[in-house]
Amino acid sequence: MNAAVRIDPETGLKVFNTRAAKASEKITGKGYSVVTDQRLTELPEMPAGATFNAEEQAKYRAFKEARAGAANYMAMEGEFKKYLDDVYSEPPVPREPLTDDCEILVVGAGFGGLLLWQKLSQAGFTDVRFCEKGGDVGGTWYWNRYPGIACDVESYSYLPLLDETGYIPSMKFASGFEILEHCQRMAQKFGFYDHCLFHTTVEATTWDEASGRWIVKTDRGDKMRARFVILANGILTTPKLARIAGMEKFKGTAFHTSRWDYNIDLRGKTVGIIGTGATAVQAIPELAKIVRQLYVFQRTPSSIDVRDQRATTDEERRTWANEPGWARARRERFAKISEVRAAVLANDDYLAGKVQDFKERKKYERELTPEERMQKQLDASFRLMEQIRARVDAIVKDPKTAAALKPYYPYGCKRPTFHDEYLPTFNLPHVYLVDTAPRGVAEINERGIVHDGVEYPLDVLIYATGFQWMGTSTFQQITGRDGRTLKEKWESEGARTFLGLHTRGFPNLFIVTGPQGGGGSFNFTDVIYAHADYLVWMLQTMRERGACIVDVRKEPEDKYAEHCRDVDIATAPLRDCISYYNGEGKAAPGSLAYYGGRQWDKFRVEAQSSLEPYVLGADPS
Ligand SMILES: Cc1cc2nc3c(=O)[nH]c(=O)nc-3n(C[C@H](O)[C@H](O)[C@H](O)COP(=O)(O)OP(=O)(O)OC[C@H]3O[C@@H](n4cnc5c(N)ncnc54)[C@H](O)[C@@H]3O)c2cc1C
Repeated sequence: MNAAVRIDPETGLKVFNTRAAKASEKITGKGYSVVTDQRLTELPEMPAGATFNAEEQAKYRAFKEARAGAANYMAMEGEFKKYLDDVYSEPPVPREPLTDDCEILVVGAGFGGLLLWQKLSQAGFTDVRFCEKGGDVGGTWYWNRYPGIACDVESYSYLPLLDETGYIPSMKFASGFEILEHCQRMAQKFGFYDHCLFHTTVEATTWDEASGRWIVKTDRGDKMRARFVILANGILTTPKLARIAGMEKFKGTAFHTSRWDYNIDLRGKTVGIIGTGATAVQAIPELAKIVRQLYVFQRTPSSIDVRDQRATTDEERRTWANEPGWARARRERFAKISEVRAAVLANDDYLAGKVQDFKERKKYERELTPEERMQKQLDASFRLMEQIRARVDAIVKDPKTAAALKPYYPYGCKRPTFHDEYLPTFNLPHVYLVDTAPRGVAEINERGIVHDGVEYPLDVLIYATGFQWMGTSTFQQITGRDGRTLKEKWESEGARTFLGLHTRGFPNLFIVTGPQGGGGSFNFTDVIYAHADYLVWMLQTMRERGACIVDVRKEPEDKYAEHCRDVDIATAPLRDCISYYNGEGKAAPGSLAYYGGRQWDKFRVEAQSSLEPYVLGADPS
C-alpha cells in the first residue's frame, strides 16, 4: 500500500492516501420500496368547504403556542461525545501532521466538496486540499445510514454529476446507500481521493494578515497554510440531542440516527425512538420490520405526504443514454418549480421537457396585491394540510393515535416528509405512538423513558433528534481580520454575508450553502452548483486581475443582509410554526435559510458585472 502522503513527481504536489477502510458491510432497509396500494400513494380528496377561517387559524396558533420554548437541544459534549464516534470506518490511516502550504483548502467532502473539486480542477485549479472529518466521501450520505434512508428530492435532479459519470439512479428516490456509492464514484472518476485528508477535523482557521494566508489547524496536529478556504461543511452536519433529565443514566444501548451501528442487533428487541422528523419518518417503517416492540416518542407530528416511489423505467434509461446533458436540463427545470410540494413530487413530464409547465396556472383578471397573494398561498397550504390530515384518518385505525399524528401548521413550515409506509406502521400491533406533546420527553432513567408517570423499559434508545441547522459560525473557530471570530461577528451583528458566500472581515473565506446562501431551489444540489460556479468565476477573475485577496465592502453586505431580512419577514406567515428552519422560533429574520428565490441571482449577476461589492488586493507576502 502507498504511504499516506507522497509527492507527485510531475506536479510537486502532495498526493494523499487517507481513505479509511469500511468498518462493516452490514445494513438493513435500503430506502423506500415501491408501494402498489393506490390508497397509500394518493392523497384523499380535499374535504369540501375547507377554508382557513378564524377557527382553523386559532387551532394553528394554539398548536404553535403550546410548543413555544419546548425545544431544548444540546451539543454532544462531555459524556455524550461518544455518540459522535465514526462507526462506519476503521480507525484513521496514520500520517504525520502537515505544516505546508496549499492554494485552496476546502472543509468537507460531501456533495459540496466533490462538486467543487470537479469544477475547480476543470478550471485549472489543482493545488486544492480537502479536510474531512469522516473516513470517506459523502458527507450527509456518509454519516446517515439509518434503515430506510433515501433522498426526498428526486434523484435524477439531486445526484450531482450524473451526465459526467454516465450514472442513472435506479429509483426516482434513491436510497442513501446508492447515493453514498455515487459519491464514491464521483471521487474515483475525478481523482478526488488523492486530494483529501480523511479523518481530519478542522478545529481552527485563523487569518494571517501579514502573509495573506489562512492558518488551518486540525485534530491531527496539522498546521497548514492556505490562500483560500472554502467551507463546504454542510447545513445539517452536526447532530444534536434533546436535553432530557436523566439521559446519562440509561443503561441500555443508545445512539443517534446519524451514527447507525448495524453491529447492534435490533432483532427481537424493545426499541424506543425519540423524534418524528424527516429521519424518523424514513427509519420507523424499517425498524418496525425487525424489532419486537417499537415505541415512538413524538412531540410534534410531521406532515406525511405521499411518496409514490418508482423504479427508473427502461424508456428513461434508453432516452437518457442518448441525450447528453439530460440531468443538467432536468435539474434546471426542477429549479424553476417554486412550490415545495410540486417540486418534491416532481412531475415527470415537465421535468423530462415533454410539457412546458408543471401545473395549470390559474389566471386572475387583475394582478393580486401582495396581501391577496399571501392569503391565496395560506389557503392553498391549509387545503393541502387538510388532505394530509385526512390521509391520517384514512390510514391509521386507532382514533387517538390518528389524532396525535395530525400536524397543525402551514405546509412546509417544518421539513415536509414523504412516505407511503409510515402511517400504516402505526396499525401494527407491536408499534406504539407515545404522544409527548407539547413539551416532549421529560425523563429518562436507567431502564428507559418515563412519560406521564408511565415507564417504558427499553433495550435500545435511538435519538432521532436531528442536526444543528446552518451552524457555520460554530462548526469550528474561524478568526478573521483583527482577531474577530465569525461567531462574535454574527452574534453581535446578526448573520451578515454577501450572497451567503462572503462575509466582510474574513477575506478569501467562502461559505457554500450557509446562512443567506440563496439559490432559490428546494434542491440543495442546485444551490451547491450555483455556489461552485460562482467560486470558480471568483477565483478565475482574481487570477486574471492578478489579485490575491478578496473581501467585500460594508454597504453591499448590509444591503444584502437587509434584503434577506425583508424577504424572510414578507414570507414569514407561510412558515408560522416552531421549526429548525427558524431556529425554533428564535432566529432573527433573515439570519438562516434564504427565502428570496431567484433574487439571489440578480444580486450575483449585478456583482459579477460591476465587481463593485468586492475589495481586491495584492499578495502582501
Ligand atoms: C438525512 C438527510 C437527508 C437529506 N435529503 C436531502 C434531499 O433529499 N434533498 C436535498 O436537497 N437535501 C437533502 N439533505 C440536505 C443535504 O445535507 C444536502 O443535500 C447535501 O448533501 C449537503 O452537501 P454538503 O457537501 O454541502 O454538506 P454535507 O453533506 O453535510 O458534507 C459536509 C461534510 O463536512 C464535514 N465537516 C464539517 N465540519 C468539518 C470540520 N470542521 N472539519 C472537517 N470536516 C468537516 C462533515 O463531516 C461532512 O462530511 C438531506 C440531509 C440529511 C441529513
